[in-house]
Amino acid sequence: MTIGVLGLQGAVREHVKSLDALGVPTRVVKSTADLDGLSGLILPGGESTAIALLGENGVFDRLRRLAAEGLPMFGTCAGMILLARDVEGRAAAPLGAIDITVARNASGRQVHSFETTLAIDGIGDDVPAVFIRAPYITRVGAGVRVLARHAGVPVMATEGRILVASFHPELTEDLRVHRYFVETVCGLRREGERG
Ligand code: GLN
Repeated sequence: MTIGVLGLQGAVREHVKSLDALGVPTRVVKSTADLDGLSGLILPGGESTAIALLGENGVFDRLRRLAAEGLPMFGTCAGMILLARDVEGRAAAPLGAIDITVARNASGRQVHSFETTLAIDGIGDDVPAVFIRAPYITRVGAGVRVLARHAGVPVMATEGRILVASFHPELTEDLRVHRYFVETVCGLRREGERG
């Protein structure tokens, strides 16, 4: 079992660290060859425009196919923008793997970034979440389940094997969101774990 972390730009190391803490083997993905044999993939936060440009090396073409084939993926912040079907004010959506529309930088400028706790369905009532120039979900398709809201606005959602969050769980010590991705979305149990 290996979970990939897309390593083109952004908060790559932090996701690797969270998965390490859970005892999950990881691989940083920079090229199409790195995508072989993964059980899941995390698309980190950063700058979605930069990641999208760097992904034109063939990685995004492969990711579109892998998402259609059912590879579990978790996009945080910029990663959520990349996985969304539509991005407000932009002609083409990068991957279109989950039927949502997102608005970029909806929580304001960098200076308005903030930390809070969220009630997340199936995870907990007090999950710490760091928002940094976060995108918000402005439309949710019929097949999409909203897992968390902030100020009434959806900030975490899932459809099939795709999970997205507006915030950065990897910037906290709390591992519950990563565990949810590994165990519930990817359907993996770590070695030696019971029940
Ligand atoms: N605002 C960034 C973007 O549009 C996302 C910010 C983040 O990932 N922390 O890509």
